[in-house]
Amino acid sequence: MADWYLAASLVALRTEINRRWPDRDKASDGALGDASHAARPSDHNPDWDAGGVVRAIDVDKDGIDVQELLDAVVRDPRVAYVIWNRRIASATDDGQPWDWEPYNGTNPHDKHVHISIKHTKAAETDTTRWFEEDDMPYTETQLRAMMQAEIEEYMKRFWVEPTGTGTAIRAQLDRIEANQS
Ligand SMILES: [Zn+2]
Repeated sequence: MADWYLAASLVALRTEINRRWPDRDKASDGALGDASHAARPSDHNPDWDAGGVVRAIDVDKDGIDVQELLDAVVRDPRVAYVIWNRRIASATDDGQPWDWEPYNGTNPHDKHVHISIKHTKAAETDTTRWFEEDDMPYTETQLRAMMQAEIEEYMKRFWVEPTGTGTAIRAQLDRIEANQS
């Protein structure tokens, strides 16, 4: 059975965010796509062709400084696009500066910030510090341990619930995995 995993760069980002705002609210957090995501292309869905990597996270706006987070991720070379409060900022390949543009998706993203990374191995594995003044280096081993902790946290939230999203995701993943073999 294939396992999905959150891109190491995003595990690093999430770890830095948690350290910066230890009491933040995580209710609108997320990494893995729910059933409605799974029905359409989304960076929240595991990319099984690339080993099951998930290339997006949602970060709850409560208990963090949203502007500080935006400053850390917008223009980072790993990031493909960021959505916040009905606006989207995307990386451009032609060297143009990032621009915020109106975002008209069904979810206005006013409760969480969505961050998608590029579909490259570098964007996935580069764990360079996201916040400039956050100088807490971690080793590969520590990062793996954090990643495991992150995954277990998500597993608890998404898998254990007897009804609702957890069950829907599990069923969707079962279908995806069945189609893999
Ligand atoms: Zn999202």
